[in-house]
Amino acid sequence: MKLKIQGLNFRYNSRLVLKDINLEVGEGEILTLLGPNGSGKTTLLRCIVRIFNPEKGHILINGKQISKIKRKELAKRIGYVPQSEHSSFPTTVLDAVLIGRKPYLNWNPSDKDFRVVSEVLHLLELKEFALRDLNELSGGEKQKVLIARAIVQEPEIMLLDEPTANLDLRHQLEILEIIKKLVKEKGISAIMAMHDLNLAPRYSDKLVMLKNGEIFCMGAPEQVITSGNIKSVYEVEATIYNQSRTPYVVAKRALKKL
Ligand code: ADP
Repeated sequence: MKLKIQGLNFRYNSRLVLKDINLEVGEGEILTLLGPNGSGKTTLLRCIVRIFNPEKGHILINGKQISKIKRKELAKRIGYVPQSEHSSFPTTVLDAVLIGRKPYLNWNPSDKDFRVVSEVLHLLELKEFALRDLNELSGGEKQKVLIARAIVQEPEIMLLDEPTANLDLRHQLEILEIIKKLVKEKGISAIMAMHDLNLAPRYSDKLVMLKNGEIFCMGAPEQVITSGNIKSVYEVEATIYNQSRTPYVVAKRALKKL
């Protein structure tokens, strides 16, 4: 068992935006958070990476509370890929990825740091971009750089906030294949936040559907992707087709607010 969340509540000022969140992700598992805009996906990821402190509840890695793990240690164990990032100063792709080694650096990067970065740039087919300015890349290329930065951290847990947002179909599949391969081969755990109800079940072991900061349902993809759940959570009428146990959603129409 890797990551466990128990009875987590989080409040922005007086507003409770996460309520009694309980979930687990094991080694080699991908868990994807689904739910409409504002349902709490990003806030939950930010609690796990300790940008925010929950009001109540616990987040445990292998039984140890993350609040008791030193920040530098936590940075080695958790890789976080935020939604998108605009860098206002010029940074090469190489530097942007190398910074992911920060938890391991003493002063100058070592041979190992450069080796790890070079391998990951190769894995993500980013080598030809190494000396280009990050701000000159397309959305998909930039997204790959952010993922590369998290991978060079050699984390045990990866958190990815909408890793396929703004990407064309080919890049969406490519990114999700890379994440899946990494999770399965290295036995790490991943939590992603996603909007795409067709891609999420194909690449996830477990889905969690959030509604207004609460877990509405959770389980294997075919248990979560049902027309009833989509109606209750998204207020959309949809038909579900199953192919080799993978559900496909065809959205029909938005329903009137209840
Ligand atoms: P999601 O990622 O599912 O779209 P968020 O976690 O971004 O949802 O937001 C959850 C709720 O918290 C929303 O109601 C949103 O308006 C609110 N929220 C998000 N960020 C802040 C903030 N910095 N201050 C106050 N409220 C916020």
